[in-house]
Amino acid sequence: MASTKYIFVTGGVVSSLGKGIISSSIGKLLQARGYKITIQKFDPYINIDPGTLNPYEHGECYVTADGMETDLDLGHYERFTGIRTTRHNSMTTGRIYKAVIDKERSGEYLGHTIQVVPHITDEIKRRIKYLGDTEGYDFVITEIGGTIGDIESAPFLEAIRQMKWEMGRDAVCIHLTYVPYIKAADELKTKPTQHSVKELLANGIQPDILILRTEKHLDDHLRAKVAGFCNVDLECVIQSEDLPSIYEVPVNMQKQGLDAAIMRKMDIPVGETPQLGAWNRFLEMRRNAAETVSIGLVGKYDLQDAYKSISESLSHAATYNNRKVHITFINSEQLDDPESPAWETVRSQDGLVICPGFGQRGIAGKILAAKYARENDVPCFGICLGMQMMVIEFARDVLGYSDADSTEMNPRTAHNVIDLMEEQKNVTQMGGTMRLGEYRCVIRKGCRAMQAYGGKDDIRERHRHRYEFNNSYRDAFELSGMQCVGINPDADLVEMVEIPSLRWYIGTQFHPEYSSTVLHPHPLFMDFIKAAISK
Ligand code: GLN
Repeated sequence: MASTKYIFVTGGVVSSLGKGIISSSIGKLLQARGYKITIQKFDPYINIDPGTLNPYEHGECYVTADGMETDLDLGHYERFTGIRTTRHNSMTTGRIYKAVIDKERSGEYLGHTIQVVPHITDEIKRRIKYLGDTEGYDFVITEIGGTIGDIESAPFLEAIRQMKWEMGRDAVCIHLTYVPYIKAADELKTKPTQHSVKELLANGIQPDILILRTEKHLDDHLRAKVAGFCNVDLECVIQSEDLPSIYEVPVNMQKQGLDAAIMRKMDIPVGETPQLGAWNRFLEMRRNAAETVSIGLVGKYDLQDAYKSISESLSHAATYNNRKVHITFINSEQLDDPESPAWETVRSQDGLVICPGFGQRGIAGKILAAKYARENDVPCFGICLGMQMMVIEFARDVLGYSDADSTEMNPRTAHNVIDLMEEQKNVTQMGGTMRLGEYRCVIRKGCRAMQAYGGKDDIRERHRHRYEFNNSYRDAFELSGMQCVGINPDADLVEMVEIPSLRWYIGTQFHPEYSSTVLHPHPLFMDFIKAAISK
């Protein structure tokens, strides 16, 4: 296409409607038509990035290959489209203000008063257009975080208004709202949608397409009512009913002609509806899987979004192994008590994942879970902090260093088997300073991990950590049966440990969950699920 087209996705009425899934689905459907697309997320909060946010506030922090700590929606974008995101796909109010303030200090606006309009809005527009201008995408899909009406969203709405005005049919706004069902009246209510669109109109934006989230089917009469009240074509009022899986959403959107509606709005010939072959095969496998594999997630954040990429990776891998996955969150803090019912849950799993994390809380339980898995030969996957806990457990129980620890938890331990990385020792700033993003890992020939990677011995995976395996203990571990099978050759840093005498006991310093996608499940998760099935 001659020029990049811009699709904005906004949300109204309430949060958590699934804007990320809708944006990902739009991306998937346009990609299936052969277009080069990218999806970006603009978050209205003032943090520079979500790296310093507690997962209770914002769910998982997703990491791009180029090392940006981002919103978890970028994980959906990658899982749906298989297209990698970069630091330019994630933006916050904090970063935008910082850029403007830095320019002001360096004298770029000399003589002018710096204002939200035009300086902040121009910076927003520049960053929305950046990927289109530099990478030549056909479509840039921009998801705006938060809900219409939030004070924080105002500059973003102004930027969208200006872009729609300047670009005409090359920019469309898709607004996602909620249609509640009132049980006592047995009625679906469109009023909140009407109000939400009014709010958009008050900001000068006429939405082109509405997507209505609903628990119940909306009949044509209701859709026509919304269309009439909101000045939107009937074919552009789409419904998004609750579905058994988020991965059904693109198919459902395609059936209702969402992609065709976008193309018509943008004056692009619609052509034939593309087949979603491999995607549909994935969905079919999911529906047809009769047996279940049970995986316990041992972590400290009792919140489904905190381990989003791990759950999705497990779910992809289970599907390709013809299984449904039953994931149970196990609060590691409860494992401190040997009588806790949480142990009953641990014992009933086919496999355990020891989750990533930071700080002291809940680590004793993670160590006990790693010990249980090692002693009972239960397939066990330790990720980042989870791998570090496997190492500490092994040092305490097998090597006999009863005070073995990570200096993150106990800076004075005599056996610091996990220690702060050298390059981190002078770091004083918290945000964005960990070892982040993709690094190489060379895998030892013949080990289980290498088999899992299909015989590859040189891979790249994403990271987010400050602490590492202490190399002065490497020989002691190897002699006693825990092998350091993955090494980053540049830093001589242990990336993977494995106990080959066990069925599946692998810890990774990296985060494989960030790169599993629907069409390309991650090999380590595939192999872990295989082992859990054959337990
Ligand atoms: N807290 C550990 C570190 O910084 C592990 C981090 C993580 O699990 N992402 O090394």
